[in-house]
Amino acid sequence: MSALPSDAAGQHAAASQENEGGVEQVQPGVWRITVPLPFALRWANAYVLRGAGEWCLVDAGLATPPAEAMMLQGLAAVGITPADLSTIVLTHGHPDHIGLAGRFQEASGAPVLMFGPESERMFSVWAQQDMSAIAAVSDFYRKHGMPAEESAQERAAIAATRRLVTIPQQVTPLEEGQEIRLAGKLYRVIWTPGHSDGHICLWREEDGLFIAGDHVLPRISPNIGLYPNCRPDPLGDYLASLEKVRDIPARLALPGHGAPFSDLAGRVQELAAHHAERVEETYQIVRATESSIGVSAYQVAARLFAGRFDSFQNRRFAVGEALAHLEYLCFAGRLVRFEDARQRVGYHIALTLRGQGAAPLVRNSGE
Ligand SMILES: [Zn+2]
Repeated sequence: MSALPSDAAGQHAAASQENEGGVEQVQPGVWRITVPLPFALRWANAYVLRGAGEWCLVDAGLATPPAEAMMLQGLAAVGITPADLSTIVLTHGHPDHIGLAGRFQEASGAPVLMFGPESERMFSVWAQQDMSAIAAVSDFYRKHGMPAEESAQERAAIAATRRLVTIPQQVTPLEEGQEIRLAGKLYRVIWTPGHSDGHICLWREEDGLFIAGDHVLPRISPNIGLYPNCRPDPLGDYLASLEKVRDIPARLALPGHGAPFSDLAGRVQELAAHHAERVEETYQIVRATESSIGVSAYQVAARLFAGRFDSFQNRRFAVGEALAHLEYLCFAGRLVRFEDARQRVGYHIALTLRGQGAAPLVRNSGE
């Protein structure tokens, strides 16, 4: 999922105006199917690629009846059913991108391609059998200051979301830099960790088509959050991944949410600036509210997303996002993290910065 609390009302309204769901041809041989989501972020895109007598689906919506109906309608509009798919590629393992992958693989026998480590995570978080991942999530939020009753809700939310995805039986792992042929065209796999650890973009150099997934979105800032067992510095990863795609001479970028857009470099710049601002805001909040036990990510999130800290769904994204910024500041040596005997985590201004703003002598390991 990609809903960012900061973008709630205005941008979601704008997105829904431009996008009522359905199918549209983006260019010859490329279609966008937009499916509805029962989340704050109301729509997700999937793309159909055609060529060399093959059909490739990029991302697979969500397995709710309305999203599935829209997906089937979209496929029918281009003249196929799920059984006709030759390949399914998943940009990342979030529910609104993988939802129908299992069902469509079953219908078509098509290989499902995604970044190798991302598929492992998908199996552990979203497969029905593994309960330990769910327990880890609520423990994680409690540790970061979420009240017990809310972290229990988190558990229930994951269990409910598991019913909205069908997991593929088999995944063909992709690697960074690999070249793959989809519906007759060559694409390069670009690993872009940040929004999720194993997120990939696909670059079709031949005609400048860039499949962005949720790495670069046109109107909203993709959710960059810290979650249990993820890479330690998702915001650092994300900013590096923005750099990685900034100079790609894309003619058209196809995002996971919102309309296709042309100015990739410009949008990358805006997203990087947005996070730079948010990093400073986060630091100032810690400075202003610091107590002897430090400030929890939950407290920081409540300030950082004040006014939008209103629903359970918004709060969990807000805490994850605040954590990504807090950890980034720890890696930069500007904050330190402290965990007390009851495993509650608090953040402090790095000691060496309290005085004259001198360079820190002790770097936080970020562990
Ligand atoms: Zn996502």
